Amino acid sequence: MADTTREAAVIGSAPNQLFIDGEWVDGSEGKKIDVLDPSTGDVLCQIADATPADGRRALDAAVKAQKDFAATSPRERADMLRRAFELLHERIDDLALIMTLEMGKPLAESRGEIVYAAEFFRHFSEEATRISGNYQTAPAGNARFIVTKQPVGPCILITPWNFPMAMGTRKLGPAIAAGCTSVIKPAAQTPLSMLALAAILKEAGVPDGVVNVVTTSNSGGVMEPLIRSGDARKISFTGSTEVGVRLLEQAAEKVLRSSMELGGNAPFLVFPDADLDEAVAGAMAAKMRNGGEACTAANRMYVHKDIIGEFGKRLSEKMGALVVGRGVEDATQVGPLIDAKQQGKVAELVDDAISQGATVLTGGSAPEGKGFFFTPTVLTDVPTSARVNKEEIFGPVAPLISFSSEAEAIELANNSEFGLISYVFTKDLQRAFRVSEAIESGMVGLNQGIVSNPAAPFGGMKSSGLGREGGSEGIEEFLETKYIGMPL
Ligand code: NAP
Repeated sequence: MADTTREAAVIGSAPNQLFIDGEWVDGSEGKKIDVLDPSTGDVLCQIADATPADGRRALDAAVKAQKDFAATSPRERADMLRRAFELLHERIDDLALIMTLEMGKPLAESRGEIVYAAEFFRHFSEEATRISGNYQTAPAGNARFIVTKQPVGPCILITPWNFPMAMGTRKLGPAIAAGCTSVIKPAAQTPLSMLALAAILKEAGVPDGVVNVVTTSNSGGVMEPLIRSGDARKISFTGSTEVGVRLLEQAAEKVLRSSMELGGNAPFLVFPDADLDEAVAGAMAAKMRNGGEACTAANRMYVHKDIIGEFGKRLSEKMGALVVGRGVEDATQVGPLIDAKQQGKVAELVDDAISQGATVLTGGSAPEGKGFFFTPTVLTDVPTSARVNKEEIFGPVAPLISFSSEAEAIELANNSEFGLISYVFTKDLQRAFRVSEAIESGMVGLNQGIVSNPAAPFGGMKSSGLGREGGSEGIEEFLETKYIGMPL
C-alpha cells in the first residue's frame, strides 16, 4: 500500500530551488513551475523557474570555478565521485520515491535507475585516475611528440525526463572526472531527481560552482544565450533529434564541442532459428523497460513469417498480464506515461496502425480514469506504411511486422533515419555476426534485450547522435588533446 504521509514528507523535504555557485536560490523573478504526478495528473510540488539572468549567473559560476577545478588532482575528483556513488546507495529509498512520484515508473524501476546512475559515478571515479597521454619519437628521429589531455572547459548539459537521474550522472560523472565545471538543465517535468543529486554532490565534496543546476519553463530562452556566448566550451545533450539539431546550430556559432544522444527507432529482429522463449523475454525487456519510454525501446519488431504467429501469442500473453498502476503501489509493473500529450501520441500511433490493417492481440487503448496510462499493447500484421515504423512510440506498444529473408530483415531494419540500437535474436553464429555488422546502429543487443552498461560506449549513428557516453570513450568527450612538439 502506498504511504501518502511518507510521500508528502519526502517531497516536502526535497530541494526545489536553483543550485548556483554552491547555494540554493530562488529564481530572480520568484516564479515557480508546477511538477505533476503523472499517475494522477495532480500537482506534486513547485520548483524555481529560472530566468535568462539566472542562467547567466549559473554559467558565470561555472566559468569562475573552472581554473581551480581543473587544477585539482585526479585522485581528489575520483574521491568526490566515489563518495557520491556511496551516498546514492545510502539514500536510495527516498531517491526512488522522488523519482517514481515525478516520473511515474514503478519503485523497483526507480531503484534500478538509481543503481545504474550511481554506477556512472563509480565507473568515472576509476577513469579519472587513468587519463593518459603519449611520448613519442618523431619519424625523423630529431624531435619528440608529447601528447597530453586537458579538461575541455565549462560545459552545458541538458537532460530529458525519461531517466531523470541516470542521464545526469552519465554526463556529470565524466565531466567531473575530467576536471570540467558545468551548468546542467534537467527537463522541467522531472527536476527533483537532479536537484537531489546536486545536494548529494555538494555533500560529497564537489566545490562550489563546479556543478550548477537550473530549472526553467523557458528552456530555449535560458539556454540559447549561454550556448551562443561561447563561454562554455562544450554542450552535451540527451533528448529528441528535433531539439538536438537546433542546439547543434546554436553550438556551431562558437564551435562548441558537441555530444548528442538523440532519438531512436530500434528494430528488433527475430530469425526463425532463434530460441523463442529467449526472444520473447528479450522483447519484454527491450520494449517494457521504463514502460517503453526509452530511446533504446524496441520500436519495430520484425519477426520471420514462420514464427510470427507463435511469437505474437507468447508476447501478447506476457504483455496482457502486466499490472498497470501508480508506481508507488507494490504490485505495479507498468506506470503511467509522462503526460497527456504523450498518452495522446501513443493512442494516435495505435489508431493509425489499426486503420491501416493491423490486428490488436492485446490492449489497444488508454484505460478510463485519472493519470496518463496506456494499456500494454501488441499489434500484428502491421503494414510497413504505418507511422510506428518511422516514429518513436515512447510507450508500451509492440508492433509486429513479418519478413521472409535475412536480406529483407536487414533492409527493413536500416530503413530509418535513426541508428541508436538494434536487437538481433538468432542461434546461428554466422548470421549473428553478419547481421550485427550490416545493421546501421551504434549498439546491437545480440540475443539480449538490454545493453545499457556504464562501462560500455553508449550512443548512436545517423540522426541518433554524435559521440559516446560511458565506457572509456565517455571521458574523452570532456577532454581536449594537446600535442607539444620539442626538438631533441
Ligand atoms: P526533448 O523535448 O528534446 O527535451 C530534452 C531536454 O531538452 C529537456 O531538458 C528539455 O527541457 C530541453 N529542451 C527542449 N527544448 C529546448 C531548447 N530549445 N533549448 C534547450 N533545451 C531544450 O526530449 P524529451 O521529450 O525530454 O525526451 C525524449 C527524447 O529523448 C526521445 O527522443 C528519446 O529517444 C531521447 N533520449 C535519448 C537518449 C539517448 O541516449 N540517445 C536517452 C534518453 C532519451 P524542457 O522539456 O523542460 O523544455
